[in-house]
Amino acid sequence: MRQPPYLNQMVLLETGLEPRALLEALQQIELNQGRQREERWGPRTLDLDIVRFGDRRVTERDLIIPHPELFNRDFWRRELAELGSNER
Ligand code: ATP
Ligand code: CA
Ligand code: CA
Repeated sequence: MRQPPYLNQMVLLETGLEPRALLEALQQIELNQGRQREERWGPRTLDLDIVRFGDRRVTERDLIIPHPELFNRDFWRRELAELGSNER
């Protein structure tokens, strides 16, 4: 889908939250920033995804970790390498 330029950033964080609680916290931040749930992959104010969560694997209907698109998104793999997240 065509959309205007947007900013993309990956961060490495430490959290005491479980994966589901982290997803809920991220969704709350998206809502606080005024995100509307429109069509998937469309333009939006803010999109926060969990790409990896240490070595944890989650396969639930609404939460999959590592993110299922990880192996299709070169830029995510580059960013992970830059963060050195494989060594942690
Ligand atoms: P993509 O996930 O392909 O980047 P998107 O970020 O545009 O697409 P959203 O509409 O933001 O998709 O999210 C759709 C749903 O994906 C969310 O409601 C959430 O439940 C689910 N989801 C599954 N796995 C994850 C994950 N690892 N991180 C964030 N959301 C996830
Ligand atoms: Ca996304
Ligand atoms: Ca998302």
